[in-house]
Amino acid sequence: MDLVNNFSWSFSRDSLFKQCQRAYYYNYYGYWLGWDKKADQSCKDAYRLKNITGLDLLVGDVVHKTIKHVLTVYKTSGTIIEFDAAFNIALDKFSTAYTKSQNQDWQVKIKDNTNLFEHYYGINISDDKLHQKIGKIEQCLVNFYRLDFFNSVNTDDIFSIDTLNSFFFEEFTLWAALDLVIKKGDAYYIYDWKTGKQNDKDLFQLSLYIYHIVNDFGADIENIYICPVYLLDNDSPKFNYLKLSQDFDFQSMYDRISNSANQMISLLFNFEHNALDINNTQKTKESKQCNWCKFKELCLTK
Ligand code: SF4
Repeated sequence: MDLVNNFSWSFSRDSLFKQCQRAYYYNYYGYWLGWDKKADQSCKDAYRLKNITGLDLLVGDVVHKTIKHVLTVYKTSGTIIEFDAAFNIALDKFSTAYTKSQNQDWQVKIKDNTNLFEHYYGINISDDKLHQKIGKIEQCLVNFYRLDFFNSVNTDDIFSIDTLNSFFFEEFTLWAALDLVIKKGDAYYIYDWKTGKQNDKDLFQLSLYIYHIVNDFGADIENIYICPVYLLDNDSPKFNYLKLSQDFDFQSMYDRISNSANQMISLLFNFEHNALDINNTQKTKESKQCNWCKFKELCLTK
């Protein structure tokens, strides 16, 4: 069966589209089939650059993966991995990814090997900076353990851990990454681990998850609790459950997503085949954004 690059919508897609249409093109179109040896060089280049990540993103990824591991072991065996062991797992994940990036293992296999923006573009990472990032990982895990999660949740209550769900919204697919869902009776508790600062998009993002749980799991909105957990907060984080009431303005959420998706779709020259021409995308006018853009090697030489 042929692979098809279907149109879908996500928060990260929306965010990149708003930052720079050209970067959006490379990330969602230009890279397509770039993993294939027979692909055009420009697709291979875009695919290589798309898979670059940054040091802060690596920190977030390591924290998420470590918590996922801790929760999975708890769910499957009831065993609680203690903080020190969890931190060692995280350190191992971080140093493995960092070393692979330094050694450019991605040259052998892009998908399975971290390629850090800083290494790729020759930006020095001082020892201080590295220690600071490791400190962030530690702080996030300290705060996760402070939540006292294992005393409040039974293994049978864990409904899903770190799933990437797709669901239909109007005529296209949406993606939602659910870090943790607990189900107690008819009630659903959706947890989202945050390794960055609070942001006004958070509630919007989580309300979309509620839409997904209501529509695809048949839950009643009154029985859904959302809980963003800011793991870097200096104060001990808490489970602060938010609830949307029956009269939550879902319409404004639909409108926001529809508007965003329609702007993306309006650039396509063929919607059925989700086909976008690079010449129909604008480069950002905010040249500062180019400094930290992973596609700059490809874009700024054209
Ligand atoms: S280098 Fe600048 S203009 Fe080019 S894709 Fe990146 S952000 Fe956009």
